[in-house]
Amino acid sequence: MATLPAPVTMDKLVSLCKRRGFVFQSSEIYGGFNGVWDHGPLGAELRNNIKRAWWEDYVYKRTDIVGLDSAILANPAVWQASGHLENFTDPLVECRNCHNRFRADQIDLTRNCTVCGKFDWTDIKQFNTMFKTFVGPVEEEASVAYLRPETCQAIFVNFRLVQGAMRKKLPFGIAQIGKAFRNEITTGNFIFRLRELEQMELEYFVRPDQADAAFEELLGINVEWLVNHGVRRSKLDLYEHPEGARAHYSRRTVDIMYDFPFGKSELQGVANRGDFDLTQHAKASGRDLDYFDDETNEKVTPYVIEPSIGVDRSSLVFMLEAYDEEADKDGVRTVMRFHPRLAPVKAAVLPLVKKDAALVALSHEVFASLRGEMLVLYDESGAVGRRYRRQDEIGTPYCITVDSQSLEDRTVTIRDRDSMQQVRFPVEGIRDEINRRLRLPWTRPD
Ligand SMILES: [Zn+2]
Repeated sequence: MATLPAPVTMDKLVSLCKRRGFVFQSSEIYGGFNGVWDHGPLGAELRNNIKRAWWEDYVYKRTDIVGLDSAILANPAVWQASGHLENFTDPLVECRNCHNRFRADQIDLTRNCTVCGKFDWTDIKQFNTMFKTFVGPVEEEASVAYLRPETCQAIFVNFRLVQGAMRKKLPFGIAQIGKAFRNEITTGNFIFRLRELEQMELEYFVRPDQADAAFEELLGINVEWLVNHGVRRSKLDLYEHPEGARAHYSRRTVDIMYDFPFGKSELQGVANRGDFDLTQHAKASGRDLDYFDDETNEKVTPYVIEPSIGVDRSSLVFMLEAYDEEADKDGVRTVMRFHPRLAPVKAAVLPLVKKDAALVALSHEVFASLRGEMLVLYDESGAVGRRYRRQDEIGTPYCITVDSQSLEDRTVTIRDRDSMQQVRFPVEGIRDEINRRLRLPWTRPD
């Protein structure tokens, strides 16, 4: 008797990610490197699709948001003014016996060390999690620089340059996608907590009296963005940071929480940073970073609303949400039900038999007509049922099969991953048809 499939576990997902080329341990042949992961061919594609979807929706579809691509390195004065040198810290405690270090807020210090079993804790000290490096040929204090721990500071530093170049009026936003680095005391849960990560950050500048309304609006838009790309609303929750427990810059922070297999944790943060950053940078640099409103002849220091989401963390959520198992006659069919917009491979071309020269030639013609603007695979090895399953396991929305009828009437079948229904379609126009289908709204088949 068929039983309901077990829910996705981290072990199942990690195994699929390695087997099918989504995520690899960094430096795997050398035993890995803690808190750092590499993205395989399909992982690279998934991430590019997430980033493109985010950029299209926030930068291209709106007229009030522009993009920025700033450097990872910056003048260390940036981190002095932003408060990171002083405040970008985690509480660190060490076991004097085995010298393992832990985040003091993540373990129970009234108990013995979980590694060696002894009870001999040091005092808690604040550990700065920015990565330090040296610029130029001399390793001395004067040449210290930091790998950025978040992408947003360059947005604040460039605020006036961007605003002037693009002639933006309040309210407007600056979006950026890029790498950030955090020397986390403890890492873990696969690609959840990383030392090298990638962020998609939006800083939305508003008049102070519009900040509360803008916060609510952007929080709603960001939740909808996740839901529209396949995240079940029932798996999401909002967590309002209480007064007194917020980051030093924040007037309000709400985390969008996701119900991960290892517990509810933050997927995305939305913060009202007030005028903290612009004020700090204006003070420290001596430059005027205010916005001049030429209608009212007033100077305004804008408030900024910041929705910030990780490419890594969101790709983990999209993969967890996509993972599905179905009982079928050969055992279990694993299907990654990605939103077609995010699916790494958009289509696969499958010749029904590989020994018929005319059929293979037509298959290659179909394959060539689809390549160029999306990733399309060609698979001719094994029974067609097994080939469908291989594509299901990586979430390919459409399989195109070329069979003997194709040679007679130049039609092929298009198989839909979710409904498994097949329809015949003319070879001429197949590219437009796949593109059309990829743009249709999608809902998960529950
Ligand atoms: Zn110990």
